[in-house]
Order: sequence, then structure tokens, then C-alpha cells
Amino acid sequence: MRAPQGNRYRDSWCGELGGDDVGRQARVAGWVHRRRDHGGLIFIDLRDRSGILQIVFHPERGAELFALAEQLRPEHVVSVSGELLARSAENVNAEMATGTVELEVSEGETLASSHTPPFAIDEDGPVDETTRLRYRWLDLRRAGMQQTMITRALITQTLREELVARDFLEIETPILTKSTPEGARDFLVPSRMNPGDWYALPQSPQLFKQLLMMAGYERYFQIARCFRDEDLRADRQPEFTQLDVEMAFVDEDQVIEVSEAAIAAVFAATDFEIAPAPWPRIGYDEAMLRYGSDRPDLRFGLEIKDVSEQLRGSDFKVFESVLSGGGTVRALNAGAREMSRSELDSLNEVVQVHGAKAVAPIIVGDGGWTGNLAKFFTAEQIAAANSALEASDGDLLCFVADSATVAPVAIGALRLALAARFDLIPADQHSACWVVDFPMFEADAESGGLTALHHPFTAPEGDLDDPASLRSRAYDLVVDGNELGGGSIRINTPEVQSRVFDAIGLDADEAKARFGFLLEALEYGAPPHGGIAFGLDRIAALVCGRDSIRDVIAFPKTASGADPLTGAPAPADARQLRELGIKPQTPPAAG
Ligand code: ASP
Repeated sequence: MRAPQGNRYRDSWCGELGGDDVGRQARVAGWVHRRRDHGGLIFIDLRDRSGILQIVFHPERGAELFALAEQLRPEHVVSVSGELLARSAENVNAEMATGTVELEVSEGETLASSHTPPFAIDEDGPVDETTRLRYRWLDLRRAGMQQTMITRALITQTLREELVARDFLEIETPILTKSTPEGARDFLVPSRMNPGDWYALPQSPQLFKQLLMMAGYERYFQIARCFRDEDLRADRQPEFTQLDVEMAFVDEDQVIEVSEAAIAAVFAATDFEIAPAPWPRIGYDEAMLRYGSDRPDLRFGLEIKDVSEQLRGSDFKVFESVLSGGGTVRALNAGAREMSRSELDSLNEVVQVHGAKAVAPIIVGDGGWTGNLAKFFTAEQIAAANSALEASDGDLLCFVADSATVAPVAIGALRLALAARFDLIPADQHSACWVVDFPMFEADAESGGLTALHHPFTAPEGDLDDPASLRSRAYDLVVDGNELGGGSIRINTPEVQSRVFDAIGLDADEAKARFGFLLEALEYGAPPHGGIAFGLDRIAALVCGRDSIRDVIAFPKTASGADPLTGAPAPADARQLRELGIKPQTPPAAG
């Protein structure tokens, strides 16, 4: 770090002092990290943002100064000055960046005192998360959190530099706006000046970035806050940050190329080891077949095979009824693995979460199958399945038979569970790929109609008269089974946009009411354009090796969307509600 601006508090950073500074006077300021009393001397590890420095108080430097030292407790704030000394050889601490020196205090001042913290700041041990969030300002002082916050800032800075170097303009878009459909519920904000009307917080800047392309700002980016009112899962927050990008006059290749440059730069800056770009592209259908997921984790094998044809016509009723009903049998070869009966049974739970009934496990022996399922299959069927699965004696084969929508996803989950169970995921090896050629629509469970798999501004490919068969020009970047980003080439004519709205059941009037401004802009010369958005929180969690994005967000919310620090969300006062024309809700009576 560059030397701090000298003032009455300090002229040096704690963590930057070293051998070259020995013999000079230095003034440092920070928090008491640790304090040790040693036969008449008091040692303090003093911490500031740059690191930790050992400072020493000698009783012979004066009673007043020593009394100050005796009163210091963890997290008190002090400023001290004195001479920087080399430590004697036996006192050098090789674990500490500043371990060869110490500051002998000749002057000091306590700037603030601290209550005893509810958890230790000088160690990174586990602490209950609600306590961490309630005292976030203390949690953020801990080394682990400090490291993730610094890494996160480095990521943002790297992305900015890469994009600015490629002529992208950073442009802000509104937070108080209208609904943007990204498949979640909106957060709504009442308008005091327009009683009865509401703003929506943006689920993404999608429509504004498209309008910017139509406005001629051909390369745009924004580090954008997005808001989605969803039931929270481990890696979700009601507000999160995206790197949002849009480009005009491009095809998929150019968006992917810019994305790879920016994300690879982040990986390089954070020492995240991964194969250099370009990263492989996998079609959606192939990803679903081989990995049972549109977020395939390519760090291990256990590839899935469709063995429907090999096993059709057997005496095994379960498979036969699935196959005759248009379903599919998917299988994977788990290799020569030992699993107890109860472990095998527990695999059922993994697939049941995804709607499948059970896993049929089979052990290969003497070229055939052992166990009581074998008798339902002919030797040819067994040989054909073994050959498809490259099975040899001792291998554990797992089969899942179900509908063409359930079976792939269920066995995909099984693939991940087996990889975790057998420790097949290398801790420090990473793998990226693009998933491309998505279907444009999927069936909407609620309405029974179609809904856009990405969003309805994605350009379709294929026959518009047969919406269910359309593919989309979308692409997702997947790293280690996490979707880091996704985007698409967009629709740039009002005709196609209207057809897509129509396909998702949005009639012309409703389309006009919700997206009239977009449809109108499309009438005034909209260039071909496309873009992408990356989940910054997820990228930060990935490169920091954290399971939860809460660990890379300075002030996150709990799983129920609450902030134990500020107490948000909280009741609004009656006057505010009156001004907004909202009737206060009385909580439902107990019982
Ligand atoms: N708006 C999309 C999203 O938030 C990303 C994009 O299509 O650029 O997922």
C-alpha cells in the first residue's frame, strides 16, 4: 500500500513496516488485536487494514505511558509512536509479515475503547451466523472476511479495467422503475406523489441496457444491483450484484469473447487456476444427457448414458412401463465402489427430490449382472447396457427410469451426490464451459402454457409458427457446476418481439401496457445486439473458496431476508403509511 498521509494519528501502515525501516521513528494507529503481559513488558499486536505490527511498552518509558498500556484490551483503538527496532534472532516470527521488527513505544494515546467483543476477532473460528451478522462490523474485522472483501474489490476493479480498455461505457440505470421479467417476484415501492401507483425495483437492467443499444451506446457495462423477491436458497440474496454487459452489432461469438477476456482476467488476478479461454461450448441437450444438468460440473467423469434402447423389451415392469409411456432409462457407471445396503437405499432420497421414484443399483460380475434384478433382462440386453456403460466386473451401475423431463435431472443429482460421496471432485482444479443452444421456452407449471427459459427478449431460432420447438440464442457460463453468467442475442424487431410475447400468453394489450416503451423503441432502428450478466457475488464466492455468497457481501441478509444488524425489514410508522395511502396491516392474531 502507498504510505498513509501523515497526520497526528499515523505516518505508517502497521503491515508495511520491515527491515528497511529499522532505526526510524514511526507512528501507527489501529486496533488492539492481541495483548500479552511478559515479565514487566507489555506486547500488543496492533492491527490496521494493512496488517499487524508488534508494539512493545517498557515500564521505564514512564508510568503514565505504561498505565495506558495496562488498560488496553482487545479492539481498543490507539495511536502510538516510537522507534522501529529489529527483533533479536530468537524473537523473529516467521508467520508474520512484519515478524522481524517491533515498535518500541515512546508516546501513545488511546483513541477509543471497546466492549469485550462477543466473539474473538483475532481468530477465524466458526461463529453462529446470526451473531456474525448482528455484529457485522466486528465480523468484518476478522482476517478471513477482510481477505474476501479485498478480493471482491479486486474483482470489480479488474472487470472495470478490462471493459474500459475495450471501449465499454459505464452507465447507470434506474433503481425505481417498472417490472423487468427475470422470473422472480418484484419488490414494489409505493409512489407518494402518484397515490395508488408503484415502482418496481429492477430484477436486472435488461430493458434499459437494450434501450442503450438502440440509443447508440454500442458497448455498455454496469456493476448493477438487482432485486428479486424469491424464497431464498443458500446462494441467493434478495439484492445481489451483477456485472451487466451489452453490445450492438454482435453475434454470440463476440459477446463470449469479451466475457472470456474479462472473466479470465479476474481468474488471473485472483490466482484461480483454470484452463485458459476459449472454454468449450456444450449444447443444452448434450449437457442434459451427459451430465443431467444445464450447469454441468466437468471436474469429474461419471457421465450419464441413455440406455433406453439397450433395455427396451425386458421383463422388468418398472422400466417397461416407463419406456412404453414415452419415458427414458438413464444410467451411470460409478466404477468399482463398495456401498452398503443402507447407503444404496439413501440414493433413492437424492432422486426423489427431483420427482423420480428410485435408483436401481446393479453390480457387474462375471460379465453379467449380480443381484435380483438380473433375472429380468436377457444376456443381450445386459451385454448391450454393459457395453454402453463401459462396465467391467465389480462396477456399480445406477439406473433411473422416468419421464424424459424427470429422469435426466434426477440422475444428474445422483451423479453429483456420488461424486461427493466418493470424493471425486478435486479441490483445487476448476473447469469452465459455455452451455449454448437452449430451448427458447419451457412449460410453465402454473399456467400450463409456455414461459421463456431465459427471458422473453432473447432472440429465438427456428420456426416462429411452432413456438415449442424454438431454440434460443442464449449462452450461460458455467464454472464447477455454478452458473456464473448468462445472456443472449436479443430480438431487434417489433414483429418477432410481439410473436414471442404472444407465445408466452401476453396478449397485445398487456404487452403494450407492460413493454410498450420497448416495442416502440424497436420501431425506431434497433441494431442487432446482445449481452450477458455475471453474478458478481457468485464469482467472488467461487474464487474465495466460500460456499455462501453471504461471505463475500459486506452486509448480507439472512435466509429469511432479514438483516439482524439494522433490524430490516421493520414496520413503517403510521404517518409514513398515511402519506403513502397505505393501510397498516395488523399482524394476524395468535391462535
Ligand atoms: N438480464 C439477464 C439476467 O439478469 C442477463 C442477460 O440476458 O444479459 O439474467
